[in-house]
Amino acid sequence: MSQVYDVLIVGSGPAGWTAAIYAARANFRTVVVTGMQSGGPPGGQLMLTTLVENYPGFDEGILGPELMERMQRQALRFGISTIEADVTRVDFSTRPFVVYTEDGFGEKKHEARAVIIATGASARWLGLPSEERLRGRGVSSCATCDGFFFRDQEVAVVGGGDTALEEAIYLTRHASKVTVIHRRDQLRASKILQERAKANPAIEWQLNKEVVEVLGDERVKGVRLRDTRTGEESVLPVSGLFIAIGHRPNTDPFRGQIALDPDGFIVTERNTQTSVPGVFAAGDVQDRRYRQAITAAASGAMAALDAEEYLTGERRIEWSEVKPEPAPAPAASYTTMAVIDSAPSPVTRTAENQSLGRRRKVVMYTTSWCPDCQAAKRFLARRGVEYLEVDIEKDPKAAEMIERWSGGYRTVPTFEIDGTIIVDFDREALEKALSGSTQ
Ligand code: NAP
Repeated sequence: MSQVYDVLIVGSGPAGWTAAIYAARANFRTVVVTGMQSGGPPGGQLMLTTLVENYPGFDEGILGPELMERMQRQALRFGISTIEADVTRVDFSTRPFVVYTEDGFGEKKHEARAVIIATGASARWLGLPSEERLRGRGVSSCATCDGFFFRDQEVAVVGGGDTALEEAIYLTRHASKVTVIHRRDQLRASKILQERAKANPAIEWQLNKEVVEVLGDERVKGVRLRDTRTGEESVLPVSGLFIAIGHRPNTDPFRGQIALDPDGFIVTERNTQTSVPGVFAAGDVQDRRYRQAITAAASGAMAALDAEEYLTGERRIEWSEVKPEPAPAPAASYTTMAVIDSAPSPVTRTAENQSLGRRRKVVMYTTSWCPDCQAAKRFLARRGVEYLEVDIEKDPKAAEMIERWSGGYRTVPTFEIDGTIIVDFDREALEKALSGSTQ
């Protein structure tokens, strides 16, 4: 730790990058902790979407990941620093504030005079044991990442909001049929998405239905549905289930330090101020109403302006007396989906890989839309690991092989490291496998 930042921003979605642009242009020493893994991908939920048509200034729409890349480039033009890591804990009782990060290379401590929390929200799950068991084996929360595995198959999407309908429309590119399962007969999604989805002949509807069980042993075979009005049960055979039922705010590292509401959203008063003077919040982490890219960006600008006012002491602010909640036990920062030892490699069978010789032992299977793949690439690059990347959309056989060889997993990134298969970007498992490799 060498310097005290003026403004430390946690999060790299629209709120985080916009706050960074404003803070840097106000000549504050600004750093963005981008996030790595916990709470979703760096760049936030837009990294998981396709075309964004309601962000002003892009008359023909813009792809979510491209919008985020442009915001990042714009912020970097003003000389901000970035820390590619997850925030694990904070101490807001001291001045300057202390923020601890973890990037897979040990915990680091950072100090800042003002903090802007823009950590967004991550996908919610139904909470069924069968859903948990089959995650990655046909259950997914990212259609753009994993949709390719379901070419010409029948899948379902749970939810009635914009995300669910966007995912359903996207999935019709790959799947032969997409059924939207929604617990009411009224959809929450915007009219334009409803019209598009209803006009799509590959989309079918199961309204007034809830999923009570995901069926299948090693892979999803179907879902058991219950009619929310009659209680009658039925089975829908599908090989993929995409959960799109909203998001929960990413506030675990801040519990006990600032006031949160009962659902975990940061309580802000008078614009972006939290219960701790000098700590501000912007975007979905404090917004349960609007939750749009443009409103997140706007609140990022507001948070930076509020931080500027706080730092320059232009106006005395009356702070609320909201008391923080007691700190719960820290949440696990990693989720291991599977480590399968000594599986036969799909890639080592290919001529391409044979030509690479013994030196190449790290293989990463990706798709172009997968933000965790980008995070994993940066992780491997920082560790100086050479690897072979296989984009399964360009090599569909690899997708089939991963599934067969991992016993039913259909998700990316998937790694092969010296015969060990690691499903999902699991830093602990990767570290372990890499430390045993000759790389
Ligand atoms: P959302 O609007 O909160 O919708 C969540 C949906 O999941 C609702 O239909 C809800 O049902 C259902 N649901 C919630 N919990 C459930 C459970 N336990 N079991 C079954 N169903 C459940 O979330 P979202 O679709 O992720 O959208 C979040 C925000 O992002 C919204 O403001 C949305 O407008 C925005 N967004 C915008 C775009 C766009 O403009 N292109 C795209 C994506 C998202 P009920 O309706 O019965 O509550």
